[in-house]
Amino acid sequence: MAAEKGLTPRAEDFSAWYNEVVLRGELADYSPVRGCMVIRPYGYGIWENMQRALDRMFKETGHQNAYFPLFIPQSFIAREAEHVEGFAKEMAVVTHTRLRASADGGLEVDPDSKLEEPLIVRPTSETIIYSMFAKWVQSYRDLPLLINQWANVVRWEMRTRLFLRTAEFLWQEGHTAHATEAEAEEEARRMLGVYRDFMDNWMAMPPVLGRKSDSERFPGAVRTYSCEALMQDNRALQAGTSHMLGQNFARQFDLKFQSESGAEEYAWNTSWGVSTRLIGGLVMTHGDDTGLVIPPRLAPYQVVIIPIYRRDEERALVLEKAEHAKEALRNDGVSVYLDAREGMTPGAKFYEWERKGVPLRIEIGPRDVAQEQLVLVRRAVYGEELRKETVGEAEALAGIRTRLEAIQQAMLAAAVRRREQNSYRGVEDYGRFREIIDGSGGFVYAGWCGSAECEARVKEETKATIRVLPFEEFRTPEAPARCVVCGGEAREEAVWARAY
Ligand SMILES: [Zn+2]
Repeated sequence: MAAEKGLTPRAEDFSAWYNEVVLRGELADYSPVRGCMVIRPYGYGIWENMQRALDRMFKETGHQNAYFPLFIPQSFIAREAEHVEGFAKEMAVVTHTRLRASADGGLEVDPDSKLEEPLIVRPTSETIIYSMFAKWVQSYRDLPLLINQWANVVRWEMRTRLFLRTAEFLWQEGHTAHATEAEAEEEARRMLGVYRDFMDNWMAMPPVLGRKSDSERFPGAVRTYSCEALMQDNRALQAGTSHMLGQNFARQFDLKFQSESGAEEYAWNTSWGVSTRLIGGLVMTHGDDTGLVIPPRLAPYQVVIIPIYRRDEERALVLEKAEHAKEALRNDGVSVYLDAREGMTPGAKFYEWERKGVPLRIEIGPRDVAQEQLVLVRRAVYGEELRKETVGEAEALAGIRTRLEAIQQAMLAAAVRRREQNSYRGVEDYGRFREIIDGSGGFVYAGWCGSAECEARVKEETKATIRVLPFEEFRTPEAPARCVVCGGEAREEAVWARAY
């Protein structure tokens, strides 16, 4: 069997590398419908683990899941002016409800089935959800209303990338209604914090948090907050957003309540979401030139066991030991796969599971059985730790969870280190700014006067955008005095980067 061709190295062509990792790691495939993708079982397994973790966090913060329709009346979308402007060009519109036989023996749209009002396939569900909230909320006692929905949405993207930008994608959208502005603001920030917790501690993809500039704000929001992560090619990924919607939607959908004092008031809304785009972020944060590297807490398989034997008489012995190890780990709550496939060399199995990013591999051969030991191989190392170790069997099995946790921590530490090594602070000169953006890329922290003109000029000249106006803890201790673009007085510090 010929050796499989390696991946395009990241340094050579990051974008080609990304596609190869996703396809050959069996996360997703192209679909017959242009712009859409098929999420394969291995990729969906990662998504399920993401969902499970996030869903628990949403419930712990008081939210309940519900489900709203895929179709939204066109008139709903048209109600919120700013919302319309932001989305109008990217929607799938349903105009008819029936097919009929055509003269040439095929099918055609039945013109008699034209809908009176077209339906929009949801690009996001603010309008339909707040129209329902308006029915359910009468008094301040009905608030806060804290709902999450797991769903698919459609935005008619023309230039698509697997997981990062597809016409249809999976996500969750949280939608809440509150009695006061302060509560809504607190909620929007709280959920951004939940995302951060998830990205740090599950994905090992540490984001920078902050507020979006007006031009990057979600259409219809008063304020948009965002988690921005830095990928290995030094481009930013907007990984999760949380919006304080003010009363914009409440006014349009008559979402009112009677306050404690008896007055009628409009509710305050928030919405927040993360999507299957996170899987793309995971790939671009941790993958290497061999393939995927998945953090243990999200890995469909945390451990893969590869039995190694040459002669038939070794087979039963080795497999028995491998089964025992699998059972022991499973009982310990470890997600483990015993790869006992016949007709495949151990080397080919190593290669396949490395390409798929399984964090830890256990090799068991006749010698290991005899000496009651296991060979443990980490998918990736980040510091002084050994990639390959031989450990006594009992000690190895008892220590797997600790080992996986150590890998999780090492991945986060490495990602933080990489982000900081590629963050440039105190950049005052626009020439230097452009040099970084056009060269290595990365997060550039620089002063901004607050004008849309300076922001637009940077975008025009460098394709970089303001990713966030960072929260206090991410800001450079010494606040910039001047706008890096025009030299005027800086109103705040901004994080600039080219983005996905
Ligand atoms: Zn300026």
